Amino acid sequence: MASEEFDLFVIGAGSGGVRAARMAAQRGARVAVADDAPLGGTCVNLGCIPKKLYSFAAHYAESFEESRGFGWAGSAPVLDWAALKVNRAREISRLNAIYAGLLDGVGVRILRGRARMLGPNEVEVDGARYRARYILVATGGRPVVPDTAGAELAITSNEIFDLAVFPRHLLVVGGGYIACEFASIFRGLGAQVTQLYRGEQVLRGFDDDVRNFLADEMRKKGVDLRTHSGVARIERDAGRLRATLHDGSSLGADQVLYATGRVPNTAGLGLNDLGVKLAANGAVIVDAHYRSNLTSVHALGDVIDRIHLTPVALAEAMVLVEHLFGDGRRALNYSLIPTAVFTHPSVATVGLSEQAARERFGEVRVFRSEFKALRHTLSGSTERTLMKLVVDAASDRVIGLHMVGADAAETVQGFAVAMKAGATKAQFDATIGIHPTAAEEFVTLREPVVA
Ligand code: NDP
Repeated sequence: MASEEFDLFVIGAGSGGVRAARMAAQRGARVAVADDAPLGGTCVNLGCIPKKLYSFAAHYAESFEESRGFGWAGSAPVLDWAALKVNRAREISRLNAIYAGLLDGVGVRILRGRARMLGPNEVEVDGARYRARYILVATGGRPVVPDTAGAELAITSNEIFDLAVFPRHLLVVGGGYIACEFASIFRGLGAQVTQLYRGEQVLRGFDDDVRNFLADEMRKKGVDLRTHSGVARIERDAGRLRATLHDGSSLGADQVLYATGRVPNTAGLGLNDLGVKLAANGAVIVDAHYRSNLTSVHALGDVIDRIHLTPVALAEAMVLVEHLFGDGRRALNYSLIPTAVFTHPSVATVGLSEQAARERFGEVRVFRSEFKALRHTLSGSTERTLMKLVVDAASDRVIGLHMVGADAAETVQGFAVAMKAGATKAQFDATIGIHPTAAEEFVTLREPVVA
């Protein structure tokens, strides 16, 4: 017998699930959220937040080094890996508690256990049954490791934050967001890093100038980045690991990190038994309002095949709640979503790559600037910055904006607003720069590199 009834039962307390639960409760809905892992999902516990904290940690190493050019003297501090882990864990626990408080505060019932659907309106958690008018599957995704001999010896981004011993040599497999970010971070923290990517260039889908520029900068910082390369097998070797590569060569490493993509968490939820349609990769197939083929069952965030970013999951949750409990008919506009890769230097981008813009718009004008940031005139660093604009020749609208350099994400966020508002190149030109910054380059690019 069902014990309690809810208007919305959310499975998964990550970014999207928590936002949907809170918003629905604030609108007066009776809401439950179930999760057997710490509240906050991947972003808070094993993704965005701890990753960014470790990225900050990694930047200190070069800051200590660069400070000498500004007159600072003395020996540089050394990394205490254990202290970094403890401090990170303390902050994540604080965030877990904040999430619990936010849900409690609006009357959301938190169920700590694994949920499974028994029917279109029925969920079970640890033997207790609940009825719900709507069910939201917000279970996120998990790393996937290709079938390689010895792959069980490797780790994923789930394990890397808490390694007992700091890896002096880290081998990273993959060329996407996660691979590039951790290659940069662990290099910055002091590891020797080898990164293997199977294709032509890392960050497939990003602008080619950005990809090539980033790869050069990462190599300059000491990442041994190898393209057209991959692991054939991994073996134990005198307390370490040895990876044999496809070309027959081999290298030793303390850890091998696979960052080869993520898959939706849809197993064990009862979705198949209920006849909920899933894509080949297991993602829940939903319409513009996140409804599956079963009208009571919805899904959003990393468990569907759209854009896997926390702010996108939050926006999807708000659209869903407006749709279910308000009068909202609005669908989310997925164009011009800014994104960043927290490599060293970082990448941020909004809109189309030059290649995609040419395919979609035909004639485009491209503006590009590459320079040494003011800080590095004294720091001794050879790091360079890239900024690039892609403009639709017919309308003069800026349709792509790309940056590789310090604080790229902070810089690009504001320009994303301008682009959302339809800003033209003439309006960029009419904007006065803030001097001296890197960001001012975006409003002072005068000569197109391609007519
Ligand atoms: P991605 O899909 O971004 O990258 C996966 C990488 O692994 C690609 O380089 C891919 O190569 C490679 N790959 C896939 N399969 C294999 C294989 N069998 N053997 C060797 N290499 C393989 O996934 P990530 O795991 O890096 O990230 C997942 C998602 O999480 C991102 O797409 C993003 O949406 C989100 N994310 C966002 C972050 C941010 O906002 N800063 C940070 C981290 C994650 P190929 O290109 O050839 O397919």
